[in-house]
Amino acid sequence: MGDPVLSVRDLCVDYLTEAGPVRAVDRVSFEVARGEVLGIAGESGSGKSTVAQALLRILPPPAVITGGQAVFEGRDLLRMSEPELRAVRWRRLSLVFQSAMDALNPVLTIGEQLADTLRAHGLSAGATRPRALELLALVGIAPDRLASFPHQLSGGMRQRVGIAIALALEPALVVLDEPTTALDVITEGEILQRLLELRRRFGFSVIFITHDLMRMMQICDRVAVFYSGRLVEVAPAVELRAAPRHPYTQGLLRALPSLYGCDEAQVSIPGAPPSLLSPPPGCRFHPRCAQAVDLCRTEEPRLAQLGERSAAACHLLEGAVG
Ligand code: ATP
Ligand code: SF4
Ligand code: MG
Repeated sequence: MGDPVLSVRDLCVDYLTEAGPVRAVDRVSFEVARGEVLGIAGESGSGKSTVAQALLRILPPPAVITGGQAVFEGRDLLRMSEPELRAVRWRRLSLVFQSAMDALNPVLTIGEQLADTLRAHGLSAGATRPRALELLALVGIAPDRLASFPHQLSGGMRQRVGIAIALALEPALVVLDEPTTALDVITEGEILQRLLELRRRFGFSVIFITHDLMRMMQICDRVAVFYSGRLVEVAPAVELRAAPRHPYTQGLLRALPSLYGCDEAQVSIPGAPPSLLSPPPGCRFHPRCAQAVDLCRTEEPRLAQLGERSAAACHLLEGAVG
């Protein structure tokens, strides 16, 4: 596979709340290969956005990175100085948020915002307009929209602009945190198709975050499943879909009707994720797991490699390879 573009090892993030520290991301490790689309799935509150924001070092207080490393193109993002980070953000590593409205500046036109990004990274004034037009064309927006303000665009157009800005400097890795959640299904499908086309053309890698597992299976090469701040399974999407190994992933998939047809009853996982202030001992999933054994209540399972590109953290799988 060659060197990964990103290698995250034992990443820990705590929110320092008045009630005590909340470990939102607990010793999470994963890699993203060049050109790969890695999905991060998991219920609300499982730590998906916290991981994305930690990688870009844009975590809002009271969040603090308390451990680990994230080696991106050979350098640890978690140990870079602010000037070093500024040189990497957007140019090599960029982010598309859930709502582009929050990311776009309401008082600047789309053209001005694209030009600002391009100029800030060294493009000459003469070269910015043609490049801005080219970027809009890439995401399927008409050239006359350069003069529009964000509020004059539909939600779908704003997300396309967000993607255009994220791709402006041809980064190596684009992190998309629920980029299309606020959109209707057709617009969402169109935007994701466009993004995949661009990925094929330019070869960048993508981290795609969503709790929509169905969408994730359609567009990702590999999927990492988070539960309560921990990575519980990672596997190629086709393998995960055909034969999920971790009981939590199996539960998530059983809740999707169309994967198994109408004959199989759709069953959601009983209960809810634990509070991160006082998570259960052992495997955090044990109170909801139908397959739990005594060991699960006391010993935390480690993430065990199951195949070349797959791993899972479950006592029942320890020792199982391939
Ligand atoms: P969603 O699918 O809802 O976007 P997520 O997987 O992105 O969820 P995060 O936003 O990363 O989850 O939050 C992970 C955990 O971090 C939450 O369960 C919560 O306990 C904690 N957390 C997030 N923001 C704060 C905050 N500002 N203060 C305290 N704890 C927080
Ligand atoms: Fe279930 Fe135990 Fe596996 Fe956790 S370690 S998922 S509780 S069987
Ligand atoms: Mg989130």
